[in-house]
Amino acid sequence: MFKHLQAVPGDPLLALIVAHQQDPNPKKVDLGVGVYKDDEGRCPILESVKKAEQIMVDNEVTKAYLGVYGAAEFAPIIQELLLGKDNAIIKEGRIQSTQTPGGTGALKVAADFISANLPDARLWVSDPTWGNHESIFRSADVEVCHYPYYDAVTNGVRFDEMMAKLEAETKAGDVLLLHACCHNPTGVDLSFEQWQVITDFVNQRGLLPLIDAAYQGFGDGLEEDMAGLRYMAERTPSMLIANSFSKNFGIYRDRCGGLSVIAETATEAKNAFSIIGQAIRANYSMPPAHGATVVHTIWTNPELHSLWEAEVTQMRNRINGLRNQLVEKLAATGVSKDFSFIAKQRGMFSYSGLTLEQVRTLRSDYSIYIADTGRMSVAGVSDHNIDYLCDAIAKVVG
Ligand code: PMP
Repeated sequence: MFKHLQAVPGDPLLALIVAHQQDPNPKKVDLGVGVYKDDEGRCPILESVKKAEQIMVDNEVTKAYLGVYGAAEFAPIIQELLLGKDNAIIKEGRIQSTQTPGGTGALKVAADFISANLPDARLWVSDPTWGNHESIFRSADVEVCHYPYYDAVTNGVRFDEMMAKLEAETKAGDVLLLHACCHNPTGVDLSFEQWQVITDFVNQRGLLPLIDAAYQGFGDGLEEDMAGLRYMAERTPSMLIANSFSKNFGIYRDRCGGLSVIAETATEAKNAFSIIGQAIRANYSMPPAHGATVVHTIWTNPELHSLWEAEVTQMRNRINGLRNQLVEKLAATGVSKDFSFIAKQRGMFSYSGLTLEQVRTLRSDYSIYIADTGRMSVAGVSDHNIDYLCDAIAKVVG
């Protein structure tokens, strides 16, 4: 039955993680993996999460099915986190949200929904984008197109080229995927002014924005990171938002996310949401409970809520602090390249501007593991390895 099947290559990032694990060099540094790490190189369980889990264990009374959309009390949390407590869109009932298995689950349901109900829509993604965006939408038979985004010369956004491409080639009904903040893989975000320009364009052209919010709280703050998304949501008739709780609650393996649909009227939102429910049923039937119960327990307990906010702030400050330290320490080595852009990037990742050859030499000669694209996971830097890392980069870059 399977004789005709050829093995496919695995994800190169996963191969990088395995190579790092098997490397006996005590100085090895892992800047590949996309999870938050503390200064000891661990991906910790947040204290607020531990405490919430204890409360859960003590109070849980059933493991019965949750229902297609997950727990009903979870949807307002998704909406409040994304749009802010008193947002008119919530009050008017123009947003409907469902719990999903991670941000990936949300994107997959969005892809199935688009494929079945907007069959002529093409998906526009940034060049580059998170690798799984393309795989998820292609597997749902949605055509994927690219718009220019990252500028390797200025380490900023190629905004004029991005807008020119969208202007020339998008058609009404196409879907425009934007990263809400902390763009993966580059770390380069749109400015608020750029969100404003894109909002006007989306409305003029009649596009459906799909916003991927996987790193809320890791850029400039839980509220600040949503400024562009909120601006657009308040001005466009329709929007889809896929969000992830993996990073900001540190519950990666518990698979907790959300998919929200915003429509022109409450009735339209309900109709679309019922079809999203169908897509979920045919996909994984119902989401897992654990992660969402943790989030709900934290959200509704004022003490745990403040503890969680403090922990998000701590993770954000650690990453942004490391960005500043990297810039200072690299400059102090006398390296020929200007790395000051690293401090301006946001989130877990940085497109370092290192070439493939430089990345390979860092791996073979220094046991420093960075993705072939030059994407570094900044959270993998620590007080223990930063000097070694900066010296090695300086030697390799010259
Ligand atoms: N979107 C982006 C941009 C991501 O980087 C990730 C996770 N790497 C996801 C979505 C999916 O997150 P989750 O682990 O919650 O499925």
